[in-house]
Amino acid sequence: MKSYKEIPAGGVAWKKSREYETGTWRNKKPVVNDEKCTRCLECYIYCPDSSISYEGDKIVIDYSHCKGCGICAKECPQDAITMVEEEK
Ligand code: SF4
Ligand code: SF4
Repeated sequence: MKSYKEIPAGGVAWKKSREYETGTWRNKKPVVNDEKCTRCLECYIYCPDSSISYEGDKIVIDYSHCKGCGICAKECPQDAITMVEEEK
């Protein structure tokens, strides 16, 4: 996997964005509260980076690709996602 630092200027990340570990762009990360989550999957629908999946009976976030935009937290009808400051 390439990091964004290896993408050339004017790069071509749009071609195969899953090949780049864009999670390093993040300042805050979304954390799901499983007790509040009703598994409605709205976060899955809204995530622009396809970084949310449903595994077992839980919402799982792919932190290798999540850029921390916060859309999932904003759209969650249960307020089950909190954006937490990344540890640097
Ligand atoms: S939008 Fe919220 S309640 Fe719905 S699945 Fe995602 S985290 Fe759970
Ligand atoms: S913060 Fe943005 S990129 Fe990350 S899981 Fe939520 S919607 Fe997707």
